[in-house]
Amino acid sequence: MRVLVLNTGSSSVKYEVFATRDDGLASLASGLVEGIGEEAGASHLTPADATRRTDTVRVDDHDAALGLVVDALAGSHLDEGLAAVGHRVVHGGEAFAEPTVLTDAVVERLDDLSPLAPLHNPPAVAGIRVARERWADLPHVAVFDTAFHQTLPPTAYRYAVPEDWYRDHGVRRFGFHGTSHRCVAGLAATALGRPLADLKLITLHLGNGASACAIDDGRSVDTSMGLSPLAGLVMGTRSGDLDPGVVFHLVRAGMSVDEVERTLNRASGLLGVGGSNDVRRLREAAAAGDDAARLALDVMARRVRAYVGAYLAELGGLDAVVFTAGIGEHDPATRAAVIEPLAHLGLVLDPAANAAADAADGPVRISPVGTAPAVLVIATAEEATIAADTLAVMDGAR
Ligand code: ADP
Repeated sequence: MRVLVLNTGSSSVKYEVFATRDDGLASLASGLVEGIGEEAGASHLTPADATRRTDTVRVDDHDAALGLVVDALAGSHLDEGLAAVGHRVVHGGEAFAEPTVLTDAVVERLDDLSPLAPLHNPPAVAGIRVARERWADLPHVAVFDTAFHQTLPPTAYRYAVPEDWYRDHGVRRFGFHGTSHRCVAGLAATALGRPLADLKLITLHLGNGASACAIDDGRSVDTSMGLSPLAGLVMGTRSGDLDPGVVFHLVRAGMSVDEVERTLNRASGLLGVGGSNDVRRLREAAAAGDDAARLALDVMARRVRAYVGAYLAELGGLDAVVFTAGIGEHDPATRAAVIEPLAHLGLVLDPAANAAADAADGPVRISPVGTAPAVLVIATAEEATIAADTLAVMDGAR
């Protein structure tokens, strides 16, 4: 049996095909159609043997992009035995705390949530509509980035603003990257050989988008992103936390709200401070004496550290810190910059293990054996988790 996972963004569609095996799910191929609506788009397909094929094509809209996905799957016989399609949806609001079978009514409700996630949900809904037409015979399941955080207590999800802003406008913390935080928390429990329900964890998803999560008893109890994925940690191009007064200051200075929003989302974070959103380039530049690059890396690490401290206080104890996603998995210097100054809180790194960590084959411990809390590097598997959720929802529905 095969499952297709689709992740539809504003200008790209990412996809991955999984096959069920006795020992779990195996990835057969992944692909990406990018440049939707732009002059030059491209379609890439990477089978499991990593021989990437790329075609340069014009991709007018999401319908055309999904058409390319259909063609790529059919051309390589990957669509044979397809049993379901799992869709990543960024915002599920308060309505969706679990993966959900997509019906017309559910799609309408997702559309209604678009004001809460104007940059993310409309393209996902567009992709879902097209995919449900193209694969009309297959069940489609939505898996939400927000769902895992629906266990946050009101003390963590309510902002200190008038109650009617919450009631009438949905102004509250939702949190994102839930699929990734949930995935690595489960893998951490397995690696530690303890039930997830017994653990207090801080998971750090540090990719182009970045967020921290405090997990107690297997449940998310706090997370750094908020109403939108703009809050919290310093990200590739997003500012993370800032004084809301900054927005009013800039609007009064003549900038449009759209311009401020675009700049905070696309031209801030590591890019805004250091000139690149790629940590590899920033490290090279910093090593060559570029002070702005150095500062960007230090601002990012300091913010992560501050969240670790805050969540340690909130959790009242800690069994493990988990690093995941592009930076968390591949940048030993960021891990050291976050953990080493926290020795007074009992967090210790094994420098050799940190330098050598490669989580491709499974979780790696980068704290000395025998010390607690553990510090772990774990590769996130969001698409595989979406595929597993999709199969679980289908099993439940049968
Ligand atoms: P996304 O949020 O787009 O899924 P990723 O989780 O793939 O992002 O993370 C992408 C980021 O990870 C890159 O922008 C880069 O900063 C960082 N990264 C990837 N590989 C390395 C590496 N070998 N060393 C340092 N940073 C890396």
